Amino acid sequence: MPTQSFQPPQRTLMGPGPSDVSARVLLAMAKPTIGHLDPAFVTMMESLKGLLQYAMQTKNTLTLPISAPGSAGMEACFVNLLEPGNKVIICENGVFGGRMKENALRCGAQPIMINDDWGRAVDPNKVEAALNEHPDAKALAFVQAETSTGALSDAQELCALAQKFGVLSIVDSVTALGGTQLQVDAWGIDACYSGSQKCLSCVPGLSPVSFSECAQAVIKGRSSKVQSWFLDMNLIMSYWGTGAKRAYHHTAPINSLYALHESLLMLQAEGLENAWARHSYHHQALRAGLEAMGLRFIVPAAERLPQLNSITVPEGVDEALVRKRLLEDYQLEIGAGLGPLAGKIWRIGLMGYSANKRNVLYCLNSLESVLIDLGVPLSGGAAVKAALAEYAG
Ligand SMILES: *Cc1c(COP(=O)(O)O)cnc(C)c1O
Repeated sequence: MPTQSFQPPQRTLMGPGPSDVSARVLLAMAKPTIGHLDPAFVTMMESLKGLLQYAMQTKNTLTLPISAPGSAGMEACFVNLLEPGNKVIICENGVFGGRMKENALRCGAQPIMINDDWGRAVDPNKVEAALNEHPDAKALAFVQAETSTGALSDAQELCALAQKFGVLSIVDSVTALGGTQLQVDAWGIDACYSGSQKCLSCVPGLSPVSFSECAQAVIKGRSSKVQSWFLDMNLIMSYWGTGAKRAYHHTAPINSLYALHESLLMLQAEGLENAWARHSYHHQALRAGLEAMGLRFIVPAAERLPQLNSITVPEGVDEALVRKRLLEDYQLEIGAGLGPLAGKIWRIGLMGYSANKRNVLYCLNSLESVLIDLGVPLSGGAAVKAALAEYAG
C-alpha cells in the first residue's frame, strides 16, 4: 500500500486545457470547507453568479456553474432544450461538433449535420441553407472556439441567423470564455456553456452555463421530463435560484467553487477586453516564433483562435517523441492532434494564466531545442528572436 502523498510535477501547461492555475486560485481551494447551504456559502454563490454574468456578458438569471466539466455543460444544454423527435441543426468542424451530435441522438432528437473542414470556421451560408431547408428545426448548435483545430467561428453572425429563423441557439464557448470575445446578450445566445480549466485558468470540473429567458421558458414548458435527473435545470434552480428557500439538490463542489470565484475575480480585475487583447498579443508573438521555425498553421489567419495554435508537424519528425521530450526535459505540455489530425499537428494552448511572455518564449525555446536535438536543420535562437521582434514592434 502506498504511504506517500502524491507529488505532481511542476509543469507548464500549454496544451488544449487544463491551463496553468495560479497560486492565488490554488490557495483559494485550501480555505475551509463549509456546508453547501451555509449562509456564508450562499452569499459566495450569489457573488459567483454575478461574476459569471460579467464574464459571459449577460443578465440571464439562469447563469451558474454546473458541478461537472465542460462536457456536462454541453449535455445540460442538449437534454434541457431538446425533447424526443426535435430537429437540431449541428455544425461539425472538429471533435466537439461530433460530440454534440452524440448528445442530440441520446436525447432522441434528430440531428441535421452541417460539415465544414477541420481547421476552418463554420460557414454561415451552409447554416442559412440548412435553416431554409428545415423550417421545423428547434435549435442551431455550434462550437464557437473549436479546440481540436484552433478555428474560431463567428458566433455573432450564426446567432443572428438563429434569431432570424426563430430557432434556439446553443453555443459551445468552452475555450472561448475569457480568451476571445463572447457576448451572450448582445449576440442573442439562448444557451451557452463553458469550462473552468481553459481560459479561466481554474481547476477542471466546473462548467459555467447560461440560459436566456426564451430558453428558460422552453425548459419550463417541456412536455417530457429532462432525461437526466442530475442535469435537469428545473431541479438545479431550486439550489442555485434566488428564491428564499434553497433546497438540497446535490452537494456542491465547495472548494472548487471557491477557486472559480477567485479566477473570475482575477478576470474582472484585469477586465474582459484586456484579457481578450492579452491572448491576441501573446498569440502574435508565438505565431512569429513558430513561423520562424518553418512551422505552418492549419487555420487561415482570419479564422484563428489566439488561445489554441495548431501547427503542422514537420516531415520526418516523430510528433509523439517531441511531446515526450518537451514533457520530460522541459516540464512543458503541449497537445497532440485528434481524429483525422492525430499524428499530423501539435496544439499549443495560450489559455488564461498560461498566456504570458515567459511561457511564449519558454515554449519556443524548448520546442526549437528539441527539434534541433532530433536533427531538424534550424538555426538556434531564431524563434525567440522572431517573437521578441514581434513583442517589440
Ligand atoms: C474542452 C472542451 C469541451 C469539453 O470540456 P471538458 O471539461 O473536457 O469536459 C467541450 N468543448 C470544447 C470546445 C472544449 O474545448
